[in-house]
Amino acid sequence: MGRRNKRNKRIRHELAKQQGFRCCYCKRVFGAKGTPLAATIEHRQAKMDGGSGKRENLAAACHHCNHMRGAQMNTARQRRKAKTAAA
Ligand SMILES: [Zn+2]
Repeated sequence: MGRRNKRNKRIRHELAKQQGFRCCYCKRVFGAKGTPLAATIEHRQAKMDGGSGKRENLAAACHHCNHMRGAQMNTARQRRKAKTAAA
C-alpha cells in the first residue's frame, strides 16, 4: 500500500503540473491562497465502466470536483440499477 501511495503521489503531481496546477474541471489552482484545494487523481472514464489506470485516462481534479462527479455517477448508476431491477 505504501508503494502504491508513493506512485499515486508522483502521478498526481505530474498530472497537476501538466495542467498548470489547475483542476481539470473548475480550473481553480490547487493549493492557491484562499483555495484550500488538494489535487486528486480523476479517472476520465471510471474504473467501474472499464476505464484504465493508464496516464491517458487520468487527470488531476480538485477534491471538490472529484467528489461531486463521483457522487453524480453513483446516482446515475443506482438509477440504472433500479430501472433494471424494476423491469
Ligand atoms: Zn475542481
